[in-house]
Amino acid sequence: MATLQDMGITQNQLDSHWMAYTGNRQFKQDPRMICQAKGKYYFDADGRKIFDGLSGLWTCGLGHGRQEIVDAIAQQASQLDYSPAFQFGHPKSFQLAERITEFMPEGLNRVFFTGSGSESADTSLKIARAYWRKKGLASKTKLIGRGKGYHGVNFGGISVGGIGPNRAIFGTGVDSAHMRHTVLPENAFTKGQPSQGAELANDLIDLIAMHDASNIAAVIVEPMAGSAGVIPPPVGYLKLLREICDQHQILLIFDEVICAFGRLGYKTGAEACGVTPDIINMAKQLTNGVVPMGAVACKQEIYDTFMDEGGPNYMLELPHGYTYSAHPIACAAALASLDLLEKEHMFEQVREMSPILEHAAHQLGQLDLVSDVRNMGLAAGLSLVHAPGESALNPFLVAQQMWQKGYYVRYGADTIQIAPPFNVSAAEIDSLFNALGDSINQLS
Ligand code: PLP
Repeated sequence: MATLQDMGITQNQLDSHWMAYTGNRQFKQDPRMICQAKGKYYFDADGRKIFDGLSGLWTCGLGHGRQEIVDAIAQQASQLDYSPAFQFGHPKSFQLAERITEFMPEGLNRVFFTGSGSESADTSLKIARAYWRKKGLASKTKLIGRGKGYHGVNFGGISVGGIGPNRAIFGTGVDSAHMRHTVLPENAFTKGQPSQGAELANDLIDLIAMHDASNIAAVIVEPMAGSAGVIPPPVGYLKLLREICDQHQILLIFDEVICAFGRLGYKTGAEACGVTPDIINMAKQLTNGVVPMGAVACKQEIYDTFMDEGGPNYMLELPHGYTYSAHPIACAAALASLDLLEKEHMFEQVREMSPILEHAAHQLGQLDLVSDVRNMGLAAGLSLVHAPGESALNPFLVAQQMWQKGYYVRYGADTIQIAPPFNVSAAEIDSLFNALGDSINQLS
């Protein structure tokens, strides 16, 4: 076992880093250090090969160390390492914006750049509120989210988000209300999208009755909710949500930070589900996770409203943006990644492998400690029976076992989440789920 010294760090260095979304005390007792990555595998400090069962954090569907992306970044860094994001431009951001629109549903053809999924979430919510104000409907400010929703960690995102622990300790957020989540007991162990539950979209009608549409700006949902443990939408749910939004002049935002660019076997979750929102948020797979970047694609009418109501043309139409919006190196990485997704027919590969993943995941539904299995595209979530008084303990223990066995999987709340690289083989899926079955069995 490699020591800290072997890893090239000191105890003080280990203590200095307050790690994100990590049990710092446990990690620092037993560091799981990743030192290298290539293709579908990580390598730890002992040189041990570890299968990447969540494509990074749903980011690296193309696998790691892709030379085309490395070359694009290196070339960009030497040509133009940074360019001011405000009031000046550089060619790649315009090329990328148009390229992204080729992956978006028809009509979502105006792209705003951010630095992450959280920034995309808050950007979309701010655009929605400002849009209605520009249209003379300034009272439309309330934001509607959904139980178990995850929209990142900024104040807008945690306000519409529906995962309790992400909100509980941070105090008052932005004015919001929530629809119920769509995990129904009668749908447990359903393969793919459940056939029951579309009517849960009518929660929006109840919220309109309570708050009035004249006070509501937007509804934000993930087409497939990833972070809460892979929750596919019931068949017809998103369509009904779209219809209610249309009837009541409410913008529909799809947070596709996980879904966009192939995870569901299509360009977007919108395409996979056959429903077009007004705004799509993206990040993660946009650059294959190699450089942080997010984006928000809007219907042209939204953009045009800001331009038409923008006052003198030297004035800002939207006073919003980030120092790292449209960062040149991120743009180069994204252009190279999007090319690879197409050139290597990744969406077709995902569609081909999804039934194999579905079969392997649902085999584990037979285990006593598995209380639900859900899947969509190349993603699966397993809910585990709670240990007495500790809902998150069993997934933590299983993920540690998996790490020991040479597999990285994500654990969150009472779930284990699986989302392998897009070019995963049937044999790799089999061995991953065999190891997962063994790890779950070790709990009992
Ligand atoms: N929105 C969704 C749907 C996500 O899944 C995530 C991250 O998992 C985010 C937003 C936040 O993205 P980031 O961690 O890049 O800020």
